[in-house]
Amino acid sequence: MSTPTPIALVLEDEREIRQFVRISLETEGWQVVEAGTIKQGLVEAGTRRPDLVIADLGLPDGDGVDFIREVRTWSGVPIIVLSARTHESEKVAALDAGADDFITKPFGVAELLARTRANLRRVWAGRAAPDSLFRFGDVEVDLAARVVKRRGVEVHLTPIEYRLLGVLIANVGRVLTHPYLLREVWGPTQSQSTHYLRVYMGNLRQKLEDDSAQPKHLVTETGVGYRLLAD
Ligand code: CA
Repeated sequence: MSTPTPIALVLEDEREIRQFVRISLETEGWQVVEAGTIKQGLVEAGTRRPDLVIADLGLPDGDGVDFIREVRTWSGVPIIVLSARTHESEKVAALDAGADDFITKPFGVAELLARTRANLRRVWAGRAAPDSLFRFGDVEVDLAARVVKRRGVEVHLTPIEYRLLGVLIANVGRVLTHPYLLREVWGPTQSQSTHYLRVYMGNLRQKLEDDSAQPKHLVTETGVGYRLLAD
């Protein structure tokens, strides 16, 4: 972390939810800065340089998506969207604007903290010395040698499967939208459908999950995309 006490910015106009988030994060050792408007949120984000941002979408002075887009012009801080909006296109819009993750209201402390940890882990991993070994469940991926093992036994992946796994590992904990994954795996000129993703994700699950029908690590975000959970 850049500071001994990590700072979280909570941008939310409903005071009760703001307090709930603040108390939850404080029990985990966070220092929490609160903002109730986009204007105030941008000031706090710029001056406090938070390690994490949790942002509502419906705000009195505008749309939280605009806040995310603005912050993304100068910061890579993890942004978790907190929203009552359940429509998938709105989640995708927030993710495309640069959000890393979303939590749908109502939510509990456990989910909030799990998402927070998942997103921070990626930041810490990025700051640490590059480690070529990445582990999740029984799987060990040697990124330098491009070797994947499950319970110590080498698993053969096709080039596309390996590329898909690599993109998920590079963004561990983060929700990746279908368009993002298609672009990263097949390239910007390809117009493959999400059907391809489903097929290749199914293959990866068969090869790497204990139960491919109940994946614990290669997780579906319904209507939105996929996410790799490392624990
Ligand atoms: Ca609101």
